[in-house]
Amino acid sequence: MGAMVEVRDVWKEYRIGKVVVPALRGVSLDIGESEFVALVGPSGSGKSTLLYLIGGLDRPTKGSISVGGEDITGLSDSRLAMWRRRNVGIVFQFFHLIPVLTAYENVLLQAELAGLPKKERMEKARELLEFVGLGDKMDRFPSELSGGEQQRVAIARALAGDPKLILADEPTANLDYTNKLRIVELLKKARELGKTVVFATHDTQLASYADRIISIRDGVLQ
Ligand code: ADP
Repeated sequence: MGAMVEVRDVWKEYRIGKVVVPALRGVSLDIGESEFVALVGPSGSGKSTLLYLIGGLDRPTKGSISVGGEDITGLSDSRLAMWRRRNVGIVFQFFHLIPVLTAYENVLLQAELAGLPKKERMEKARELLEFVGLGDKMDRFPSELSGGEQQRVAIARALAGDPKLILADEPTANLDYTNKLRIVELLKKARELGKTVVFATHDTQLASYADRIISIRDGVLQ
């Protein structure tokens, strides 16, 4: 069987008016199934760009990306959006929970978007909030939770559609050290659920918890 993620000679350029900003310059890599990988590099090195291309949130300027054997660079925009909802869970730096929904409803909504049947998604939301240690706070709104707790809800939400791939972009940047560790440990535990996890960070100490570290600098893997 091939790798879970195959990135082949990927280039990404952003254009700001007439200025071309090269963000990735010929990146190739393989990530195995159930691997927990840290993508490490300083700010501006191309970590988010690579993560978003792997998750199908954006497209490379050149090169190809396959996930689970499917070439996502060949999909139309609508197919790519559909593919993303079913196959990718994303955790952001600033949590991005929906403020008017409770923790439980935030997770439930994601399960619904991924197309899980009603009964199954209600069970799933409950189960996942217990998995992240928030079984007793399911009915709280994001504003009634600490930063670490909000990020744990975001991890439960990322897992809700039962995606193959979990992508986390600086998920610990706004947390104190105890909560940083807790989030990294939860991401590692997600791997035990059979998920492939890619976690972007500039923190080399946190990266050392991963199975493998991929270093990037100026859009080139080191
Ligand atoms: P990192 O996640 O490591 O901080 P990014 O992937 O965000 O790095 O950025 C890589 C490079 O691409 C940087 O030079 C950044 O300024 C540039 N970049 C990122 N997003 C955009 C964008 N939407 N438009 C223009 N340039 C961008």
